[in-house]
Order: sequence, then C-alpha cells, then structure tokens
Amino acid sequence: MSSMVVAVDLNKFFGDFQALDKVSLEIEHGEVLCIIGPSGSGKSTLLRCINQLERIDSGAIWIDDELIGFRQEGDKLYQLNDTEIARQRLSSGMVFQRFNLFAHMTVLENIIEGPVIVQRRTKSAVIPEAMALLEKVGLTDKKNAYPSELSGGQQQRIAIARALAMKPKLMLFDEPTSALDPELVSDVLNVMRDLATSGMTMVVVTHELGFAREVANRVVFMDRGKIIESGTPQEILSNPKEKRTQDFI
Ligand code: ADP
Ligand code: MG
Repeated sequence: MSSMVVAVDLNKFFGDFQALDKVSLEIEHGEVLCIIGPSGSGKSTLLRCINQLERIDSGAIWIDDELIGFRQEGDKLYQLNDTEIARQRLSSGMVFQRFNLFAHMTVLENIIEGPVIVQRRTKSAVIPEAMALLEKVGLTDKKNAYPSELSGGQQQRIAIARALAMKPKLMLFDEPTSALDPELVSDVLNVMRDLATSGMTMVVVTHELGFAREVANRVVFMDRGKIIESGTPQEILSNPKEKRTQDFI
C-alpha cells in the first residue's frame, strides 16, 4: 500500500510570486502531519492545492494512488473538467479557520447537506450518521440550533462533523483554532485528538505546538514556499539550538 498523499515538486505562482517552491511531501495512511511556519510561508496554499481549491502550476499530487487534477493517457496529461475535480475534492475534507457554516440552516441540516445534495444519498441513511457525528463532537443537544446560536468552538466542531459526513479519506485543517477565544480551543483540539486516535489521516496547519507535540507523528516547517525541515515533533520542536520555532511564534 503506498502513501495516502504523494506530492512531488509542487510549484505554485500568484503572478510573479512563488507561493510554493518545489514542495515534495508524502503522508502515510493514518499519519497526523502538522505544518508550522511563519505567516505567508505557503501553508494554506499547500492545503488548498491538495484540496484542489488552487491549481498547481507544475508538479503532481496523488491521493490514495489517484492522480489529482489530471488524467493520464499514455505519456500525455489532460486536465480534468470541473465535475471530475468536484468528485476528487470529496476525498479530502477541509476545515478552515473561519467555520463557514451555512447560516440559514440548522446544525443537522449543515451536516447532511453535502451527503444528500452532493453525494445524493438518502436522508434516512444520512441522518443516523449525522447524529453519530454530533455525538462524537459532543453537540447532540444542538442539532436544531442555528450557527449564530453557537460559540465559535461549537461551530468549529460542527464544521469538523460536516466535513466527516462526506466520509473523506483524509482531513485537512487550516489553523482550525486560530479564530477561537482561548477557552474554546481545547474542545476543538480534543475532537481532533480523538479523530487522530481513530486512525484518520490528518494534515494540520497550526500554531498549537502543544497539540503538534502530543498528537503529530511528524512536523514539517515551511518557510518562503519551501519545506525546510521535516521530522518528529521532538526533532522539530524541542531542539534548543534551533531559534526558528521561537522566531515564528
Ligand atoms: P500561510 O498560510 O503560510 O500564511 P499562504 O499560503 O496563505 O501562507 O500564502 C503564501 C503567500 O502567497 C503569501 O505571500 C500570500 O500573500 C500569497 N497568496 C496566497 N494566496 C494568494 C492569492 N490568491 N493571490 C495572490 N497571492 C496569494
Ligand atoms: Mg494560512
């Protein structure tokens, strides 16, 4: 079995600015990878390329052995159309800093929207799964609430449940706790920790170094569009000779 994600020599430009500079990365099945690095170093861009919210300019990404964004015929590559890309995008669930829930829908409606509308599954099949996910994130009693009635931490836990409802192969988190009041952060991190324990493959961009230390199998440090270090949390976060970790916080 090969890796869950294989990314090779990714380059991404915004105009003349190179946001990703020959980034290569492999993520194993069940691995929790934390990405750290200063603001503007390309962390979000890397997640967005894996999730196909951005298109890479060169390089290649495979998720679970499927080439992303292109179809190969012989030695030629053809760009996939929007429908094919939409299907591929379901393989990774994405959780953003701002939770982006649908404001006019209840919690339960938010969670079942994707499976029912996008995956065309029946409500009767999806609702029990949604309730199980609500239990997992500790918010069963909020199923009929609207997002505006919830705290930021509760909304983020719903956003995680909503992503999981699509049964993704991996989960991508982009600073999931950065917009939260400090006292709400641990509830969200606990849900993520449980998810890691359950064997989900996870990529987490975060400034929560305690979480990275405890939960990550591996930490990569990005700077100016490049991965400049990769290692165990111990190697990356506990080396007193390295000033960079302190520098970027
Ligand atoms: P990080 O998440 O590490 O803070 P980003 O991946 O968001 O960094 O951004 C990397 C660089 O790319 C930044 O300099 C940012 O301004 C630039 N960038 C990101 N998205 C865009 C975009 N859509 N258009 C132009 N520049 C962008
Ligand atoms: Mg970012």
